[in-house]
Amino acid sequence: MLVIRNIAQICTGPRGPVELCGELPVKKYTESAIGIEQDTIAWIRDDTEENIPKDSQILDAGGGCVIPGLIDCHTHTVFAGTREGEFVQRSQGKSYAEIARTGGGIKNTVEAVRGSSLDELVSLALPRLQRMLTLGVTTVEIKSGYGLTIDDELKMLRAVQRLNTLQPIKLVATYLAAHTTPKEFDGNPDGYLDLMLGQDVLDQIRSDGLAEFADVFCETTAFNVEQSRRFLLACKETGMTPRVHADQITQCGASQLAAEVGATSADHLERIDEASITAMKENGTIAVLLPACSFYLGVEQAPARRIIDAGVPVAIATDFNPGSSVVESLPLTMSIACTQMGMTPSQVLLATTSNAAAVLKRHDKIGAIEPNMQADLTILNVPSIEQMCYFAGRNCTQAVVKSGTIVHSQPNNQSISKPH
Ligand SMILES: [Zn+2]
Repeated sequence: MLVIRNIAQICTGPRGPVELCGELPVKKYTESAIGIEQDTIAWIRDDTEENIPKDSQILDAGGGCVIPGLIDCHTHTVFAGTREGEFVQRSQGKSYAEIARTGGGIKNTVEAVRGSSLDELVSLALPRLQRMLTLGVTTVEIKSGYGLTIDDELKMLRAVQRLNTLQPIKLVATYLAAHTTPKEFDGNPDGYLDLMLGQDVLDQIRSDGLAEFADVFCETTAFNVEQSRRFLLACKETGMTPRVHADQITQCGASQLAAEVGATSADHLERIDEASITAMKENGTIAVLLPACSFYLGVEQAPARRIIDAGVPVAIATDFNPGSSVVESLPLTMSIACTQMGMTPSQVLLATTSNAAAVLKRHDKIGAIEPNMQADLTILNVPSIEQMCYFAGRNCTQAVVKSGTIVHSQPNNQSISKPH
């Protein structure tokens, strides 16, 4: 048995999804220890000698806070190439849309991904995931969407599948073929969707277990509501769960579509209106907000407080991608949610654990510290979640437990001792 002792505070929400308005269902245990049997949390008890089974392996938290392993439920972590030229252009005043019109943007990444082998995509993504792990992240969703041909989209999904076997973070794959229309189908988005919804493609995704979710960029500049509905329903038919990139640049009914097709989440929501918030509330759609994206682009944040006050469960993710959010750090994103969206540290903890687990349909297994949940735990080197969010940009993670195994600890961390 692995036992975590000397914990300042265990800070956790319940199993998601949870509303973030009113009094929050956050539990804070003090003077407690956590017992882990195999990959599962066995108990939370008072941290006294008689409560610790003999022969336990002890992980000394050194007076730090323990939170559920963080869950980044919206990323584009598999990609090739970098776009720092656009970063400089934006810092000189050009907008993301302007840069895209003059041939920059996502199309650059598509070219780079098409020119990369599966092995190259894997070796580019691996160090990104290793850094995320050191920040306390134990589950990451990754989307395709930079291949935009059958072979290149499948190559991206296979890269995620391979990466799942090469490092400790659990990866969850999403088929985002409907990210944008590639140049070969300029002016013919429906023809492109026909290709990417071919039965052979969907059958291959299902038979090889390549994607659990399907996602679409529903936007005036990408796919309209009708096209998005067609894509999501066809994918749903094959067993994938819908999600939607919605209301980012304009309000065109995308988050209402998410509610209509039973998506687990509508993501972005910078331009969401009241009718869409109501539709999401009525259908149990989770709002995934991406504050690092607005921070990185220097644009207005999604109206988090309005969405929270309406009782829609909110999750927070990095949207890590090579263009609009080159931010790997979920902890930094949590701090941005506090300073730019008016969320509290307790709210962002629930948004990156309980609710992020629900977005990925894993809330019965991860996202909360309680007996019988999978032992995914992040041990901080600060005593509270408040201090972690307060130290924006500092890595406050000292150790990470994934499925009951210590998969990361700081080189200077002396806290792991011999058996008790
Ligand atoms: Zn995204």
